Amino acid sequence: MHNQTELFDHYRDFLSHTLAHANCDLPAISTVQDNGIVAERVSTGILRLTPTDKQCQKRKVVLSSGVHGDETAPIELCNALVNGILSQQIPLCCDALFIFGNPPAMTQGLRHIDFNLNRLFCGKYRQESYREHVESPRAAIIEKAVSDFAKDAEKLFHLDLHTAIRGSVYEQFALYPYVEDRVLAQTQKQWLEQAGIQAIVLQNKPASTFSAWTAQTFNAESFTLELGSIGPFGKNDLTRLNALRLQLEAYLSNRIPPACEASAARLFSVCHEIIRTSDNFELCVDKASANFTEFPDGSLIWKDSNQQYQVEGDSQYLIFPNPVVPVGQRAGLMLKLINPA
Ligand SMILES: [Zn+2]
Repeated sequence: MHNQTELFDHYRDFLSHTLAHANCDLPAISTVQDNGIVAERVSTGILRLTPTDKQCQKRKVVLSSGVHGDETAPIELCNALVNGILSQQIPLCCDALFIFGNPPAMTQGLRHIDFNLNRLFCGKYRQESYREHVESPRAAIIEKAVSDFAKDAEKLFHLDLHTAIRGSVYEQFALYPYVEDRVLAQTQKQWLEQAGIQAIVLQNKPASTFSAWTAQTFNAESFTLELGSIGPFGKNDLTRLNALRLQLEAYLSNRIPPACEASAARLFSVCHEIIRTSDNFELCVDKASANFTEFPDGSLIWKDSNQQYQVEGDSQYLIFPNPVVPVGQRAGLMLKLINPA
């Protein structure tokens, strides 16, 4: 364990080191741990762990959390996984990249400092209208770190871990980014179900989120996972993430995960993206609606001076209602249920 001193200075672990250096862009440092694992701190809050076994190195996984700084439970879960690997309690049989997305926002308990980091990927951070945001250089650092990591990868698996701002009919759910002609593999669906995921949302167009970027750029099996609700550091009930933790430990070690009872996840597809069209935009449903609240035929969802959106036919389900976004940004998603139970 002595090499952890080199890796995290005198800080207890990856998370406390990241929080203490949140506002600096530290240079890369590489150490060899007692168990032979090469631990490279690529930048502040970005840690690559590579086992010695060449076969193991072929499996590559990116585990990101804290892209929204106040979504702390997945950050604590990832920190525990790193601790488990470095203390040799979790044998590592894959090349793993752990990313805490937005350390300055994490220290302040904020979603972001200036702009939603999860809209700045796919090179968006370079565009004139986004370049000035505090989060833009961080998006560039993350894209570079993942690109270096994914080089020569035969297969890349990426989970971007979040928690939701509001309650949800399905406490834990996944978003599957859109890539043309790609369908969700049954094995992936089962993996998520075993991890406690109760619903999967298939997205219907390219996006500039982190998981969409890895899916589009590296053909990665990528998901954004929403894992319950926001709480401050130290106040999360991590037992609610036990199923996911067991699945991830098994994945990291290339072991078969312990069998557990899993029920089939509901599948939804996005049928309408609610955009804040102008300053006259009005969300006509309760903005505190739980995710997956059902809206039957005839429900008026939003309107502005010259258009409106109403549910027609089968019920639709709302996720991420948030009318207070800048004009042009997403204020919610409407879904259709694909596989009723
Ligand atoms: Zn989030």
